Amino acid sequence: MKCEELLAALNDYIDGDRASVLCQALEGHLAECNPCQIVIDNVRQTIALYKAGQPFDLPPELHEQLHQLFKERWEKKFAEQSG
Ligand SMILES: [Zn+2]
Repeated sequence: MKCEELLAALNDYIDGDRASVLCQALEGHLAECNPCQIVIDNVRQTIALYKAGQPFDLPPELHEQLHQLFKERWEKKFAEQSG
């Protein structure tokens, strides 16, 4: 699984509608990908707050950090692929 695939799968993950196969692939990727670990951590916290009926928001600076992190990773990855 790639980072972008993990992100694409996050919708299902968030919905709690994930298949065990997806879950295993996701956990496998997480074991060796720090940026995605951070994302999942935040997603899980967000889900917990959401289910508790509490308002939630990613801190803007964290959101920006994640955005930068993935942007850099993906730009590098795509540059390698197309190079
Ligand atoms: Zn990743």
